[in-house]
Amino acid sequence: MNKAMLVVMDGLGDRPVRELGGLTPLEAAHTPNLDALAARGITGVMNALGVGQRPGSDTSHLAILGYDIERYYTGRGTIEVAGLGMDLEAGDVALRGNLGTVDDNLTVVDRRAGRITDTGPFVKDLDGLTYEGVTLKVRPGTGHRAGVILRGPNLSFRISDNDPHEVGVKVHEVHPLDDSPEAAFTAKVLNHFLAEAHLLLAQNPLNQERVAKGLPPANYLLGRGAGYYKKIEPFPARYGLKACTIAGGGLYKGVGSFTGMDVIPVPGATGLPDTDIEAKFRAGLTALAGPYDFAFVHVKATDTFGEDGDYLGKMNFINKIDLAFELLLDAPHLLAVTADHSTPCALKKHSGDPVPIMMVGEGLVRTDDVSQFGERACGRGALGRLTGLQVMPEIINLLGLAKLIGD
Ligand code: ZN
Repeated sequence: MNKAMLVVMDGLGDRPVRELGGLTPLEAAHTPNLDALAARGITGVMNALGVGQRPGSDTSHLAILGYDIERYYTGRGTIEVAGLGMDLEAGDVALRGNLGTVDDNLTVVDRRAGRITDTGPFVKDLDGLTYEGVTLKVRPGTGHRAGVILRGPNLSFRISDNDPHEVGVKVHEVHPLDDSPEAAFTAKVLNHFLAEAHLLLAQNPLNQERVAKGLPPANYLLGRGAGYYKKIEPFPARYGLKACTIAGGGLYKGVGSFTGMDVIPVPGATGLPDTDIEAKFRAGLTALAGPYDFAFVHVKATDTFGEDGDYLGKMNFINKIDLAFELLLDAPHLLAVTADHSTPCALKKHSGDPVPIMMVGEGLVRTDDVSQFGERACGRGALGRLTGLQVMPEIINLLGLAKLIGD
């Protein structure tokens, strides 16, 4: 047994909910399979970025996969464009994009253009625009999203978002975030592209069709999270494990691509509550039965319910996840199960509360006395309290692959 599956349930951790009898959604959920695994495994709690730190989903995943964010995190845009299969080159600046709707005064009416489902026919007009030696590259993402790259000399990622992150306010001018001529140049070039893009999008006949149907036109490119290219040691080289990612959400596919894993597409993996979790787990088992040594499987919607404050939805979605875990009860691999951060329903946002973690593998792990996979139960587990950066070393050790230090 020298292969491993890592399952991350996004935003799983929570705080006690009075309406659930003082239990968290995970504690209140019906989880016989997760509990059976906890009884056979070793458990603990984990803070991806350290005690008291509130992680983003991008930074927390990098840490859990063993990449120190101080050294390897180069902005969300970098990871998003990696997830779209866009190759970054040294000197590139990458942004996350949305197609949104603005009125004649450039006031944002809808940040997602009515949750438009395909940006492809719109962004094709923007891809390849050039200005002052810089080329704009745009590729459609899922739904209203798009990946954006600026390619050319003398660029800097130290620029602000033009996305104001709320409706009813004017889109922002991009401005430099430091005094360098590169940041000023990049802001100027991007502002030019955004104005040109607005003209091209407004002229797109598909937008006239949308308006005729009463739909908000996709007439503005909202960009945020500028990042830059960085070469990192790929996960397979770092750990000697051929690795794959199975995820619905673009960011998590991006984390997989960015760290040099193969991203395996799974029909029905949506990143939404309707996602086919069993199909994801089956794909992970198939990958591990084949050439892969490590499968990272991501489940998103726990976080979405937490951000909506929907504790019943979160509990019911955890019930659904648990049903799928039946497939993994007798998996012939090391199984590590955790979350990237807590998203307490009472807060509707990420928090620094630790999340439960367990590692299960017959003959590989010492068991402890914990037989429930929950925030408080796992707090009594023998793994204690880990940081994200300690997760991969522990997995490598349990797989028997850790290098001897000394003689
Ligand atoms: Zn997350």
